[in-house]
Amino acid sequence: MSEVLENVSVQVIDEEKQFQKPQIDQYLKDTVHDDLGLDYHVISVFGSQSTGKSTLLNNLFHTKFDVMNETQRQQTTKGIWLGYSPKIQSNQETIKENIFVMDVEGSDGRERGEDQDFERKAALFALSTSQVLIVNIWEHQVGLYQGANMGLLKTVFEVNLSLFGNSKHKVLLLFVIRDHIGVTPLANLSLTLTQDLTTMWESIAKPKTVAGDVALSDYFDLQFVTLSHKVLQPAEFLQDIKNLGDKFTKEDLLKVEYKQNLPIDGWSLYAENCWDQIQANKDLDLPTQQTLVARFRCDEIVKESLELFNEKFASSFGEVSWEDSKLSDAETLAETFVQLSTVALGAYDSQASHYNKSVYLSKREGLQKEINLKLNTVFETFCKAAKKVGLAQFRAIFKDKSNKSSFFDKSKSKDQIIVQFKDNMNRFSLIDQSAFNTDEHVKEFESEMAVELEKILSEEKLALRSKFVKKISPLIKNQSLELFATPDKELWDNVLANFETIVNSVLNKYKNSATDGDSYDFRFGLTAEKNKQLADDLKKSAWVSLDQFVHDYLNEDNVTGILKHRFEEAFQYDEHNVPRVWKTEAEIAANYKESSDYALSLLPLFAIAKTSNNLEIIPDYDLHQEDEDEDEDEDHVFAHILTGPQQSKVKSKFLKQIEINYRDATRSIVSNITK
Ligand code: GDP
Ligand code: MG
Repeated sequence: MSEVLENVSVQVIDEEKQFQKPQIDQYLKDTVHDDLGLDYHVISVFGSQSTGKSTLLNNLFHTKFDVMNETQRQQTTKGIWLGYSPKIQSNQETIKENIFVMDVEGSDGRERGEDQDFERKAALFALSTSQVLIVNIWEHQVGLYQGANMGLLKTVFEVNLSLFGNSKHKVLLLFVIRDHIGVTPLANLSLTLTQDLTTMWESIAKPKTVAGDVALSDYFDLQFVTLSHKVLQPAEFLQDIKNLGDKFTKEDLLKVEYKQNLPIDGWSLYAENCWDQIQANKDLDLPTQQTLVARFRCDEIVKESLELFNEKFASSFGEVSWEDSKLSDAETLAETFVQLSTVALGAYDSQASHYNKSVYLSKREGLQKEINLKLNTVFETFCKAAKKVGLAQFRAIFKDKSNKSSFFDKSKSKDQIIVQFKDNMNRFSLIDQSAFNTDEHVKEFESEMAVELEKILSEEKLALRSKFVKKISPLIKNQSLELFATPDKELWDNVLANFETIVNSVLNKYKNSATDGDSYDFRFGLTAEKNKQLADDLKKSAWVSLDQFVHDYLNEDNVTGILKHRFEEAFQYDEHNVPRVWKTEAEIAANYKESSDYALSLLPLFAIAKTSNNLEIIPDYDLHQEDEDEDEDEDHVFAHILTGPQQSKVKSKFLKQIEINYRDATRSIVSNITK
């Protein structure tokens, strides 16, 4: 039954480098009927194309791998093939063994990088999944580094060590030297090859993951055989094959220690994992010759295109300054950007697009980045200028005296200016979404505009306050002065009533008509709460103004003056406002005493500000300024105008100043008598 099936082989890895697990499993199911368990061997072959590998395997293991037809040299299907062999060719009757033979089919021609890549991966795969790796070389290649595939072996050993080095699974490297003429004995050839391998092993990079000193012999056993020329010495060739078959059993080329101790039904999964790891390994992805040329040329073309770009860039923006009109118009600027990069990329495309596509594209991306980097410097300057312009434009709207809109209506133009900025940014993001940091700039501008609005608002509030204070201060002053000149018990009730009337007469203009009570709208677009805060701020500033005036004006001198005036009026005029004519000194003394007592009775009104029902006046707000010096005026109280000692001073100054009235009065009696 197996007679038919033994000839069949299955593709393990196809041309697309895909592992064919279902097919392999099916093949194993179809060919192997006994439960082999661990009783099997995997043997692979490694070597240049058309060196008779398949021929060797077919003769030795009775497999039926494709052999290149000498006359037609037709291409066999690329990939890695697996064939089951139940017996080995030998001089004995039969050597029955369960052998799985893997043959690698590449394409002919060593210079093609794509094939090198496949060869490398195939060799590594063979090495990691087999017990015996047949290294097939021509006799005349022995001692030649390249010819004997030493370079390829080196890479394979290196990567094998880093991928599978810790498993220390030993593999037999069986060197089969083809077309052996016989002049150089096998022993000499073996020695040369062993030395070459040892030298090569010493030069390979040992990965850190592999512990300790690792020798070639830790991973490989070496065996060497020669075969005669198949065409010139066909009989000898066949005999050599039989001898090789004998060697497999007699010299134990199928040692147990080479085995992976993996039942046959787990092999395909294991092999698939090996292949996945090999495929994922970047060290194996060496560039093809084609790619190398493409990289070199595309780099050159990138350089040329950049030079062209830089030239055009310099003539467009070399002298560009802040005020330049080029930077004020986004549309023109964006157009210039597009023109400049189109010229440069066009120059690149026209030459580079013929090269390897992925190289061409990735280098193009690099060029585009360089171009964008340069354009970005101009773009950043543009943004700076555009933001400055936008902010100034916004501010100008508030400064414009001819614009009678409310603050709130003016503040709405912020959104229009932002939209305009966004539109400008859009022109650039349309060129290349990733090249310019437009979103970031929009965000920045939005917050700058918000800050600007806050700034303008607080300036406007300050202006409103100073206008308010300017308006109420003289009113408070004038009306209070009148009251201070003719003080009576209700002095402070009247001062307060006046003060409130003045403040309200101004604030009422901002009273919210919609609601009653203490609700204001200063037409800044503020919340009710913020409006109330502002009203309080204004009221407080009115209080500060009153406080300042009261304390500035009611000093010792002025109060003395007021009392003196009050005295003089009482002393010099009678109750009908008629000037008194003195007749006796006793009359003068009595009146003098009475008027003086009256004037001094007014002093307490200026010492402490109290209402008629004897309540000290407390302002509606804490008049201490936050930024005021801590220790200065710390105990300032609105109602406390003259201290005790100050009052005493006022009293004595007053008494001294009114004395002259007494003397004048007595002198007037004398003059009346003498008349
Ligand atoms: P592969 O590509 O390495 O598998 O090589 P093939 O087995 O397909 O053989 C390629 C060519 O070499 C075929 O025309 C074979 O007839 C020829 N060939 C096979 N074995 C030998 C050999 O031992 N000596 C020589 N000189 N040619 C061989
Ligand atoms: Mg072949």
